[in-house]
Amino acid sequence: MAKEGHKYIFVLGGVMSGVGKGVVASSVGLLLQQKGYPVNLVKVDPYLNVDAGTMNPTEHGEVFVLKSGMETDQDMGNYERFLGRDLTNEDYMTSGMVYQSVIERERALGYGGKCVEALPHVRDEILRRFEAAAAYNGSRVSVIEIGGTIGDFQNALFIEAARVLKMEYPEDVLFVMVSYLPTPGTLGEMKTKPTQTAVRDLNSYGVQPDFIVARSKEPVDEKRKEKLAISCSVRKDRIISAPDISSIYEAPLNFEKDRLGDAMLDALKLPEKKKASLAAWKKFATAVSNTKAPEISIAVVGKYFDTGDFVLSDAYLSVIEAIKFSAAKLNRHAKISWVNSKKLEAKGAKASSLLAGYDGIIVPGGFGESGIEGKIKAIQYAREKKIPYFGLCYGMQLMVIEYARNVVGLKDANTTEIKKSAADPVVDVMLEQKKHLSDNKYGGTMRLGSYPCYLKKGTMARAAYKKELVEERHRHRYEINPSYVKQLEAAGLVFSGTSPDGVLMEISELPRETHPFMLGTQFHPELQARPLDPHPLFTAFLSAAIAKRRKK
Ligand code: GLN
Repeated sequence: MAKEGHKYIFVLGGVMSGVGKGVVASSVGLLLQQKGYPVNLVKVDPYLNVDAGTMNPTEHGEVFVLKSGMETDQDMGNYERFLGRDLTNEDYMTSGMVYQSVIERERALGYGGKCVEALPHVRDEILRRFEAAAAYNGSRVSVIEIGGTIGDFQNALFIEAARVLKMEYPEDVLFVMVSYLPTPGTLGEMKTKPTQTAVRDLNSYGVQPDFIVARSKEPVDEKRKEKLAISCSVRKDRIISAPDISSIYEAPLNFEKDRLGDAMLDALKLPEKKKASLAAWKKFATAVSNTKAPEISIAVVGKYFDTGDFVLSDAYLSVIEAIKFSAAKLNRHAKISWVNSKKLEAKGAKASSLLAGYDGIIVPGGFGESGIEGKIKAIQYAREKKIPYFGLCYGMQLMVIEYARNVVGLKDANTTEIKKSAADPVVDVMLEQKKHLSDNKYGGTMRLGSYPCYLKKGTMARAAYKKELVEERHRHRYEINPSYVKQLEAAGLVFSGTSPDGVLMEISELPRETHPFMLGTQFHPELQARPLDPHPLFTAFLSAAIAKRRKK
C-alpha cells in the first residue's frame, strides 16, 4: 500500500541513453527540496547484477558506495551531491536484487504454492520497493530514475510497476520523459521525429508522459515545442528545453528559470511552499565552471584506460568532482590530466618526463596487478621531489609499500593482493577476508561503507578536519599489516588516522617538516565530497598544490 498522498516522479529516457536522465532527476530533486519538500532520489538499474560491486569500472563507471556499504551506480553519487545528503539502500534497486528477493521468497514457500511469475509477482516486488523508498526518512516526493531507454526489454517490468502506481494514484504520479532532439549535420535542422516515436512506444506500455525534457545541442524553439505538444499530447508549457551546458551543476538553475519545479508542483497538486533558494548553489555553479580562475594542475595516475580515454571520467567520477569542489572553494580552476600508470612501467620510462610540472599527484583506488609498479614509481617521484601527493585507498596502500621499500629498506615489500609470497607483506588481508576469498565469495564482502576514524593530534589530517573523530566510507579487502606499523613509524611514517581501537591504519602521512603534503587514506574521501561542503582533505591537498605552484 502506497503512503497516503506521497508523490512519485518517474524519469524515463527516450530515443537514446546517455543524454542526462540522472542530471534531470537530480535537478528536479534539488528544486523540490529547495522549495520545501523533502525528496528522496531512487535509481533503478535494470541489469541482473545484484549490485554494482562486481562490475569493472571500464564497463559501468565508478562504483559508488553508500554510507550503509551498499555498492551502487555512479548516479547515486550525483544524487547525493545534488541533494547534499546521504541516501539509503531503499533508494537503489537492480533487476538482480528484485529477482533475488522473489526467488528467496519462493524457496521459503512464501507464495503459498502458487506459480510464481514476472506478472504479478516480480512487478509487485518492484512496487513494494518503490513504496519502501517512499517511506524513507519522511520524504514527501520520490524521484525515481528508470535506467535504460523506453523500448528495452530489461526495464519493461519497472515501467509496468510505475504504470500500476499511476493507475491506483492518478494524482500522485508523474512521468517525465527525457528525450533527445538530434540536428543532423547535413540538414542543420533539429528533428522531433525520434521523440514522437519514443512517446508512441511509451504509450504502448499504457503510459503517457506528463513532461518532456527535450535535450539538444541548441535550445528547442517554439515551433518545435508546438509540434511536440500536438503530436505527443503534452502541454506546451510542459515541454522543457534543455540544451547542452558546460557543467551539470547549471542544470537546476536553468530548470528553475523555466519554472520546471513549479510546473511539477502544480501537476502534482502540491502548493508552492516557497521560491527555491538557490543562491549558494548558484555561487558554487559559477565558481566551478569558471575556467578563467587561476589554474592548478593535477595528475591522476590511474589504469582504467583500456577502452579509450572517454571511460576515465566515469571510472573516477567522484574523485574528479571532489577535486572540482575544493578547487571552486579555493577560487581555482583544476586542470586534471590522466597519466597511464602502465606507461610509467615501460622500459626506460622516466617518472620525471611524465610527471614533471604538475602541482599535485593523486593515485586513486584500484584493484589487481596491472599498472601497480608504475603507480609506485609515481609515488616515489612525488615523495622525493616534494610534490603534494594524495593517495586514495590503493593509493595509500601503495604509498606505504613505496615507503617500506625505499626508506625502510624492505626491498620485497608488497601487498598480498599481488604477491602472495612477498617476503614483507606490508599490506595483507585480515582473517575474515581470507575465508571470503577461499570460498569465492566476492560480491558485497569487502570492508564496505562508513567506519569511524580517530585522528592523532598534531597531524595534517587532524588540522584539515579540525575534529578528533570522523566517519568515512570504505571499499577494500586489504589493510596495512599491523605487524609492520612499528617499523614504519620508526622510519618516519605517521599513521595519523586509525580505527578507534588502534588496529586498522586509516590514514598515513609524512610530517610537515619532511614533505609539504604526502597523505594517503584507506577510505574513499571523494565519496563524501559535496558541492556546498567540499571534503577537507581534498581542500588541504589542493592548498598544498597551490602553495607549491606559487614557489615555482
Ligand atoms: N585493491 C585494494 C584492496 O582491495 C584497494 C581497493 C581500493 O582502492 N578501493 O584493498
